[in-house]
Amino acid sequence: GRRFFVGGNFKMNGTQTFLKNLIDNLNAGQLDDNVEVVIAPPALYLDQCRKQVRKEIGVAAQNAFNATSGAYTGEISPEQLKDLSIEWVILGHSERREIFKESDDFVASKVAFALKSGLKVIACIGEKLDEREAGRTFEVVTRQLQSIAKVVNDWTNVVIAYEPVWAIGTGKVATPLQAQEVHEFIRKWLKENTSEATAENIRIIYGGSVNASNAAELAKQADVDGFLVGGASLKPEFVTIVNARI
Ligand code: 13P
Repeated sequence: GRRFFVGGNFKMNGTQTFLKNLIDNLNAGQLDDNVEVVIAPPALYLDQCRKQVRKEIGVAAQNAFNATSGAYTGEISPEQLKDLSIEWVILGHSERREIFKESDDFVASKVAFALKSGLKVIACIGEKLDEREAGRTFEVVTRQLQSIAKVVNDWTNVVIAYEPVWAIGTGKVATPLQAQEVHEFIRKWLKENTSEATAENIRIIYGGSVNASNAAELAKQADVDGFLVGGASLKPEFVTIVNARI
């Protein structure tokens, strides 16, 4: 079976003190052993968090560039992340796609480069509200997956985060059936366009207004293999979300 995966995307939140307290709480928490837990603090605090959090918990950057080093002011490379023992990177988050105008192909190129560099990748996809309302959800996630599939063959170190943009930070969580419908579609697409083994083994996690009250129902869906949590990952309820399947 697929190991349940729960990521905490802290986005641009936290200070040294706030994150120390958050991690103390996480380190003291009773976390289900069967769950892979990964936290994604802002880049400035990756080093601090990697040193403070217990080693069973993974640490992810929220972005990385597609070069090893060089004249790329403001960017961070996969090699530099590995230098700090950071194992994971989130790529293609809708906030990067929307606010920072990252295209499907740019995201895909960064996914391929990060994997080649030895990082594990949480690759985010998902439709906007107008796209869902126009009945274009499957078309949008297909387009986003296709651009990654053009440059990635081995998906072993990839987790796919399905994050409908209309559910992010809005309190409007997808219903368990809405999530399951898209996750099932993604797995079927992967089966037809990559391999049966990839489709069977890959974790497809849901993100968008996940909290302690809605996580358990979502976690019961056959193709929901975990969560990418924003706001609630900054609160003690993150532990409840990690344990959603108990
Ligand atoms: P919220 O949980 O705050 O809706 O954010 C979800 C998200 O974007 C995780 O990457």
